[in-house]
Amino acid sequence: MKFSEVIIIGGGPAGSTCAWKLKQSHKDCILLDSKKFPRTKLCAGWITPKVIDQLELSDYPNIQINDNYVNFFGIDKKLKSKSYSIRRYEFDDWLLKRSGVDVYHHKVQKIIKQDGFYIIDDLFKCKYLVGAGGSHCPVYNSLFKKVHPRNKNYEVCCLEEEIKYDYKDKACRCWFYEHNIQGYSWCVSKNDGYLNIGVGALFKGEKVTIKEHWDLLVKKLNSLGIVTNYEFKPKGYVYHIRDRVDHCRLDNAFIIGDAAGLATTDLGEGIGPAVESAMRAAESIVNKSEFNLHSIHKKSDPVAMGIMLFLWRMINFFTLKKTSNIS
Ligand SMILES: Cc1cc2nc3c(=O)[nH]c(=O)nc-3n(C[C@H](O)[C@H](O)[C@H](O)COP(=O)(O)OP(=O)(O)OC[C@H]3O[C@@H](n4cnc5c(N)ncnc54)[C@H](O)[C@@H]3O)c2cc1C
Repeated sequence: MKFSEVIIIGGGPAGSTCAWKLKQSHKDCILLDSKKFPRTKLCAGWITPKVIDQLELSDYPNIQINDNYVNFFGIDKKLKSKSYSIRRYEFDDWLLKRSGVDVYHHKVQKIIKQDGFYIIDDLFKCKYLVGAGGSHCPVYNSLFKKVHPRNKNYEVCCLEEEIKYDYKDKACRCWFYEHNIQGYSWCVSKNDGYLNIGVGALFKGEKVTIKEHWDLLVKKLNSLGIVTNYEFKPKGYVYHIRDRVDHCRLDNAFIIGDAAGLATTDLGEGIGPAVESAMRAAESIVNKSEFNLHSIHKKSDPVAMGIMLFLWRMINFFTLKKTSNIS
């Protein structure tokens, strides 16, 4: 059985950031992921200037900076601020390699706690276990499900596809509340000729399905001449916006990022909270200190995300008050 003082499960931004920080403190640490990197991760790939700072990304080669256009209740608006975006396919791989952690290609299924250690599939053993496996994190499923139940009202449902496309329109475009969607759809150009197109919302109680929203988006992209005559094959994914965070550590086991359900309640921004929670887990392991996620921002910084303050406030007012009890 392979022993490491710390084992991280999941190599997305949460897992790789935690590994990066632990390695900087010379901690014995390995990471397990069920996928071989580079791997596809559904995500529009917006990152904030804060993420760029925290991850020290000044030498990351592929940050696309676009003009922002939003459409809000049918009104088009060009914003002064810019959007920063990356392709998760290459970003996650770059972060994981930079962390210097040894990565094991392994799909975790069974985790048990025995004599103060965590045993994973009878193959790996550790003192500290970090669950960074996203929405389907096995650490969450094995150890945290009962104490940290997920609320269906906080579930974001998405359909998305990233396509190689000879685009002419370089802008980042978002459409809010179209066809009464409790969320938004987007089209974002990426470096090296990729376009990321998607729709995401809280679909609880909606009359129109996400597939119908997707079809309307494709129709619009066609009519605007942004993407024409393309055979899309979108994929779906579900993740959770921020709810309570009082049970994200049990003994020496932690959940961070999407495993803890930390995406912002207004824009569903999950990369920033994943990075921040990962840094706190690493700090807690290194300094044997408390692990506390309460002060991680619940809402996106509207200017940093390229969305004006008024828009952000309107979203909060209309979407969140209507669909749930999020405070
Ligand atoms: C369509 C869509 C668009 C989004 N757009 C944005 C955006 O523009 N900006 C933003 O900030 N956020 C966005 N988000 C949210 C963001 O993608 C997530 O919050 C972020 O990826 C969370 O990172 P993570 O490291 O916690 O989890 P993930 O990135 O999901 O990584 C989890 C890793 O765990 C691995 N894993 C899972 N199960 C196992 C297992 N059993 N064994 C081993 N490994 C396992 C997976 O293979 C994966 O590599 C979007 C989400 C979606 C679905």
